Amino acid sequence: MLSKDYIELENKYGAHNYHPLEVVIAKGKGVWVWDVEDKKYLDFLSAYSAVNQGHCHPKIVNAMAEQAQTLTLTSRAFYNNVLGEYEKYITELFGYDKVLPMNTGVEGGETAVKLARRWGYDVKGIKKNEAKIIVANENFHGRTMMAVSASTDPDSYEGYGPFLPGFIKIPFNDIPALEKALEDPNVCAFMVEPIQGEAGVFVPDEGYLKRAQQLCKAKNVLLVCDEVQTGLARTGKMLASDHEDVKPDILVLGKALSGGTMPVSAILANDEIMLTIKPGQHGSTFGGNPLACKVALASLQVLVDEKLADNADAMGKHFRSKMQKMVEEFDHLVLIRGKGLLNAIVIKPSKDGKTAYDVCVELKNNGLLAKPTHGDIIRFAPPLVITKEEIDFAIEVIRKVLAGFN
Ligand code: PLP
Repeated sequence: MLSKDYIELENKYGAHNYHPLEVVIAKGKGVWVWDVEDKKYLDFLSAYSAVNQGHCHPKIVNAMAEQAQTLTLTSRAFYNNVLGEYEKYITELFGYDKVLPMNTGVEGGETAVKLARRWGYDVKGIKKNEAKIIVANENFHGRTMMAVSASTDPDSYEGYGPFLPGFIKIPFNDIPALEKALEDPNVCAFMVEPIQGEAGVFVPDEGYLKRAQQLCKAKNVLLVCDEVQTGLARTGKMLASDHEDVKPDILVLGKALSGGTMPVSAILANDEIMLTIKPGQHGSTFGGNPLACKVALASLQVLVDEKLADNADAMGKHFRSKMQKMVEEFDHLVLIRGKGLLNAIVIKPSKDGKTAYDVCVELKNNGLLAKPTHGDIIRFAPPLVITKEEIDFAIEVIRKVLAGFN
C-alpha cells in the first residue's frame, strides 16, 4: 500500500476530528521519521512535545519490552512491585511529598482541578459547591468536559455544552487581572501553563509566574502549573516554572513522561493538599500500572542522564538566533518566539497568497515535518536529542522554503 491508500483508509473508517498533514509515517528513530515510501523527515513537532527523548529511545523501549513480558496491569486493587519505586523517584526528582499517577495529560489536569477543589473545601473552608478556579484565556488543558469548559477557543467548546461551572477566565500574562480575580474568596486555585503551547507558544513577561505565585500565596490560593507540554526539559529546564524558581502547589505532567511510548501522566503535590483525597475518591484502572511506571522511570532517567534540558537550552538559543536573522530577511516571516526547543514562527500571507499551511506542505516536501496552528503560526519543537548539525539542516530547509515565497 502507498501513502495515499493509508490516507484513504483513515478518511473512510476514522472519525474526522483531525486534519493531518499528508504524510504517512511508518518508522521513527531519534529525531528522524520515515514514511511508507521510505522518505526520511526531520520531526519538528515531536508529537506535540511527547517525544522529547527522541523516537523509540532504546533505554525506554527496552524497559518497556522487559516489563511488558513480566507484568503490565494489576489495577490499584492490589499493590505492584514497580509503582512505589517510581513514586519515590519522581517525588524526589521534583521535590514533592506525593504523586498521583494518571494516563493522559488531560486526566492530569482534570485530577488537579478535583484536587484543588477538594483542598478548597477541606482546608481553605470554601462553602460546598462554591469553589472557583481561575484560568487564562487561550489556555489548552486538553479535550475533556473540564478542559473545554475552561477553554476560550470556540473550536474546543462550541457545541459541547452545558459546561462545568466554576471557572474564572482572565487574560494570560496579566497580573492586574489576576489580582482582581483573586479578590473572590471562593477561589481555590489559579491553573496556568507557564508558556501557552497550543495557543501558539506565548511566552509571558519575565517575572509573571513568580508574581502570580506571590499573589496566590497571599490569598491562600493554590498555583497549579500545567506543564504537560512545557515540562520535562522542553524549555531548557526540567520544568518551565524552574526558569523563575517557582514551585507550583500542584504540578501536572504528561506527554514526555513516557518518551512518547504510551499515555502516562501524573500530578505532584505536598501532603496537605494531596491527602485530602481519600481511598476510593479518585482513580483510574490504568493509572500507576507497572508498565507505565517502568516506562516513566526510564523516560525521566534519560532526560537527566543525557542532560536534555541543557541541550534544549543551547540548541534553542542557536535556532532562535538564526531564525531572527530570517525575520529580518523575509517580509512574510513576522517573528520567532519561544524558550528552549519550544518555538513558533508567525507567518503573514505572502504576496502570492501562501499561508502557514502552504509553508508546512513545502517543509514536508523538503524533509521537515511541522504543523500550523491558528492559521498563521508554525510550532517548531523537535526531539531534545537533536544535534547542532540537525538543527542547521532544519534551518537550511526553512530558509529555502521561506525564500521560495514572495
Ligand atoms: N495540557 C497541555 C498544556 C497540553 O499541551 C496538552 C496537549 O497538548 C494537554 C494538557 C492534553 O494532553 P493529552 O492530549 O495527553 O490529554
